[in-house]
Amino acid sequence: TPALFRTMMVAAGERISTEADRLSALDGVIGDGDHGVTMDIGWKAVRDALAQSPEDETIETSCKRMAKAFLDAVGASSGPLYATAFLRAGTAVKDRLNLDAASMAAWIEAACEGVRERGRAAPGDKTMVDAWVPAVEEARGAVTGGADVLGCLDAACEGAERGMNATRDIESKRGRSSKLGARSVGHIDPGAASTVVILTAMRDTARE
Ligand code: ADP
Ligand code: MG
Ligand code: MG
Repeated sequence: TPALFRTMMVAAGERISTEADRLSALDGVIGDGDHGVTMDIGWKAVRDALAQSPEDETIETSCKRMAKAFLDAVGASSGPLYATAFLRAGTAVKDRLNLDAASMAAWIEAACEGVRERGRAAPGDKTMVDAWVPAVEEARGAVTGGADVLGCLDAACEGAERGMNATRDIESKRGRSSKLGARSVGHIDPGAASTVVILTAMRDTARE
């Protein structure tokens, strides 16, 4: 339901807050050390924006609200990436009042496409795309196999976690960490780590 969707987004923001220091520490190794801070700022703005949502607001409109809030609040690379992700994800479910497993997977897929469209990163470039893409693949696969919304989110989390761990072994081709070249190998990408945080919080909240 739209209300549960908003609760899931608020939970994602709270989890980002809890994990902010760890995310910044990951960014400190191969970037400028602010990923937890930038994400926390963006997600706090999202939470404030959603607090203004009328009870009957659709998921699409909530996503638009989130996109605007995130973009206005965040100057770092993740600002426009997540703003576009939220916009695309909302549009993908615009004919839906509630999300079933297929539309949850469509929401995740469109968010991923938004990040890809805006950031122009390919899989294997060591960015958050490397967590989003396997999340989409696993979510889609689960839905094809008859999973419900929880099964879909479980699968997305598994895919994202696998993708996040794989970023350790590859060299960065995008964003700040690309300047390190081969020295970026051996470290997890912070954006891939925050993707796991977001999807896991969504899954855990849906389960409750
Ligand atoms: P900044 O690099 O501006 O400090 P953040 O630290 O908030 O921004 O975000 C860094 C993360 O953004 C990286 O770990 C990576 O996952 C992601 N990222 C950077 N550039 C791109 C891009 N072009 N496409 C997708 N993700 C990107
Ligand atoms: Mg950074
Ligand atoms: Mg920065």
